[in-house]
Amino acid sequence: MPEHAPGPDDCELCEAARFTHWYHEDDVCWVADCEACDCPMVVWKDHGTDAPEAAVAHMIEVLEAAGTERFGAGRFAIDRVMRQIPWHFHAHARDRGWQQRRWSSQPSRYSGSVGGPRLVIGTP
Ligand SMILES: [Zn+2]
Ligand SMILES: [Zn+2]
Repeated sequence: MPEHAPGPDDCELCEAARFTHWYHEDDVCWVADCEACDCPMVVWKDHGTDAPEAAVAHMIEVLEAAGTERFGAGRFAIDRVMRQIPWHFHAHARDRGWQQRRWSSQPSRYSGSVGGPRLVIGTP
């Protein structure tokens, strides 16, 4: 873990603010659209990066389900590189056009519950 890593109280992923669409939540993790890049992102509920193998396998599985729901089967790739927040386990499901798309597509918003239809900002 990097030396400058903040504790859980100062960690954006621990905060788990619900601004975007949430695809899934259970005891291990949650999956929501990433606020930075608009791709589905799975986040471990524990602060840290040493997630047990079984938890990682589970998280990748639910992330794949969210990616399939959003982009279609096989139309995305799992990205496990933790660029912005290297101290807390998370992974993205990225479609091919995500870098262009995030400047043009309307971000999703939290619908008030986990799962269900994905609503974008500006729709009722
Ligand atoms: Zn992101
Ligand atoms: Zn954290």
